[in-house]
Amino acid sequence: MNNYQVNEKGYYGDFGGAYIPEMMYPNIEELRLRYLEIINENSFKKEFEQLLKDYVGRPSPLYLAKRLSDKYGANIFLKREDLNHTGAHKINNTIGQILLAKRLGKRRIIAETGAGQHGVATATVCALMGMECVVYMGEIDIERQAPNVARMKMMGAEVRPARSGSKTLKDATNEAMRDWINNPVDTHYIIGSVVGPHPYPDMVARFQSVISAETRKQLLEKTGKETPDYALACVGGGSNAIGMFYHFLEDENVQLIAAEAAGKGVDSGHSAATSVLGKEGVLHGSRTILMQTDDGQVIEPYSISAGLDYPGIGPQHAFLHKIGRTKYVSITDEEAMQAGLLLTRLEGIIPAIESAHALAQLEKMSFAREDVVVVCLSGRGDKDLDNYMKYFNF
Ligand SMILES: *Cc1c(COP(=O)(O)O)cnc(C)c1O
Repeated sequence: MNNYQVNEKGYYGDFGGAYIPEMMYPNIEELRLRYLEIINENSFKKEFEQLLKDYVGRPSPLYLAKRLSDKYGANIFLKREDLNHTGAHKINNTIGQILLAKRLGKRRIIAETGAGQHGVATATVCALMGMECVVYMGEIDIERQAPNVARMKMMGAEVRPARSGSKTLKDATNEAMRDWINNPVDTHYIIGSVVGPHPYPDMVARFQSVISAETRKQLLEKTGKETPDYALACVGGGSNAIGMFYHFLEDENVQLIAAEAAGKGVDSGHSAATSVLGKEGVLHGSRTILMQTDDGQVIEPYSISAGLDYPGIGPQHAFLHKIGRTKYVSITDEEAMQAGLLLTRLEGIIPAIESAHALAQLEKMSFAREDVVVVCLSGRGDKDLDNYMKYFNF
């Protein structure tokens, strides 16, 4: 049996680890030593499951999309993370991390956010738990993402602008790390995807793995078999994809497909297709694959969907890519937008543009009629309406 999970040193093959400034060592070490013990406690599991059920609205439905299935000639199921409270899968992780933070005795939460989705999910759980919340966000992103900034403020979070560099996500991440170094005792840093130094990728994967745990049960009920032929998800940092793949990794007959954003085209110079364009290196504290120049400068990624606009992928994805367990595909803006419109017209579901990247891959595959396909619908498209309207000239 292959081992696809992190080893005791924090690596997935060559990838992972904790490449952090010396000053951050105590924070990461506390987390590394305690996270497994805490999240495996019965009282933790009970509180986590209760909140996922009554607050988030889980289990999220596994919906057989009939008209989409007819179009592609297979049995296509959508895992409806879009129906979660706050509209995406990100809340699964923030609930898990805030419960962990409480048990570590923290009273203050920090996070970084790009499009604001992770910031909103973090501000939400801070309101829920009565914790102080500071969200770092690039000054340019604050302008571009006004509705999410408003949501965070309404929840009581402080949104602090990052004014250095390109004034976007990576600058916000730097500010958040600086804050954490200066507040090692009372503060927990909630990272929003399966990225960052060990143990974050493994910890976030465990919280998101509820997606595939539920899917197995739901498939058994609906098809008589726990495993699908294909599981698809989009990849920014990779948390909804790892959540969707987690409990299928060892079922080698399940084909795992991860859709990255090719933006205006893989070779256009405006994309976020990390697995095609990326090289091995260190990003946000772990060894992974990232888009970089020959002299190691991180390349600014581009995608029409803000959530996929990330220059790397989490270390577990880098590993799954390298050993070939998961296939990584590239989807352009145009392909994703068309797939988003198609789902809306066939099923009455407006997907997040991120999720539409996974849907667009269906168009490129050929199926047998009895094939069972699960697509992770990571989020809803309400936040993207302006983008859709402009794109299609509605
Ligand atoms: C943030 C986001 C993503 C990308 O993040 P992952 O960590 O790759 O899952 C995908 N879909 C939606 C709806 C998002 O909000």
